Amino acid sequence: MKIGFIGLGNMGAPMAANLAKAGYQVTGFDLTAPCPEGVTPAEAATDAANGADVVITMLPNGKILRSVAAEIHPVMSQEAIHLDCSTVDVDSARAVAKAATEAGLMAIDAPVSGGVGGATAGTLTFMAGGPEQAFAKVVQLFEVMGQKAVHCGDAGAGQAAKICNNMILGVTMIATCEAFALADKLGLDRQKMFDVVSTSSGYSWSMNVYCPAPGVGPTSPADNDYKPGFAAALMLKDLRLSQQAAEAVDADTPLGLAATRLYETFVEVESGGEKDFSAMLPRFEKRGRPFS
Ligand code: NAD
Repeated sequence: MKIGFIGLGNMGAPMAANLAKAGYQVTGFDLTAPCPEGVTPAEAATDAANGADVVITMLPNGKILRSVAAEIHPVMSQEAIHLDCSTVDVDSARAVAKAATEAGLMAIDAPVSGGVGGATAGTLTFMAGGPEQAFAKVVQLFEVMGQKAVHCGDAGAGQAAKICNNMILGVTMIATCEAFALADKLGLDRQKMFDVVSTSSGYSWSMNVYCPAPGVGPTSPADNDYKPGFAAALMLKDLRLSQQAAEAVDADTPLGLAATRLYETFVEVESGGEKDFSAMLPRFEKRGRPFS
């Protein structure tokens, strides 16, 4: 199977490298980033796409995805698959899938969870939307780049699953951080707080696996001065996508909205964008109630 890979940034480069290591013939293109070892560099996105059985895109946002798709679809072989692994808005994913179908191609939106560590280790989770037949063809690639792939439904279903998951994650991380900061002020030891909550009904991935308190629970970015991990700016991107989608379908998401506003302040006013998203804890621990 010949693969074209467009977008070789923090995530795309290790994903492409893993495919090349597994023996696939991979041709890569990025506007600025170099090709990783084992990947043949192309001069243009169209050169990477031409003659490929599967073209993978790993790009920053929906606008860029739409423009790259418009560029590459006309040169792709009939029945080739455009597999987009970027995190983008549901509308862009559906528009790109429609354009692909009109060009005689198949499209899958398959955003990932697992970050740069998961991309490097080949342990990403893929959540996919698109035709069953196309999903079946690319499962072998998911198995190289990741450890789990869920076919969530039609075009856009992968992006829908991703933003719903990350909306829960943003909300539970904030809840965990504000609870730690409250516990501090109540004189409760953080380790005791962890011991109780991680085995009680307040448990979550944010508490049990990615504990935002340094020195407590399993090793996490909190133990490394909140270096990401998963940067607050990326969490804000996903929360904004969740609110864009919620607005489009008239869904009431009050906590998703509150989480978006808090990360907006953290990233845009308090210079927290490059810190891990769990750095909400040192933010809350310094604060009192806003209107008392
Ligand atoms: P990145 O900015 O490191 O990489 C994006 C790459 O796309 C860059 O190298 C850029 O030069 C390239 N690019 C932009 N426009 C292009 C074009 N027209 N043609 C070719 N290349 C182009 O971003 P990343 O961290 O690799 O993230 C990629 C996607 O994965 C994003 O949608 C992001 O939300 C998602 N994601 C990231 C993480 C993470 O932890 N970094 C986790 C899950 C999902």
